[in-house]
Amino acid sequence: MKCEVCKSKIQMNFLEKPFGTYIKDENGKKHIVCNACQRKLKSKEAILENM
Ligand SMILES: [Zn+2]
Repeated sequence: MKCEVCKSKIQMNFLEKPFGTYIKDENGKKHIVCNACQRKLKSKEAILENM
């Protein structure tokens, strides 16, 4: 699984959950974003723009 902004690999924790966040775009499609990009871009809108 890769971050859709920076394309780096996202690790899974022991529950097989990614260290990242799912963001839904206006079409309801889910995108995975790593924690670093989420911190850097802050808003959902900025993240979607940078994909
Ligand atoms: Zn990223």
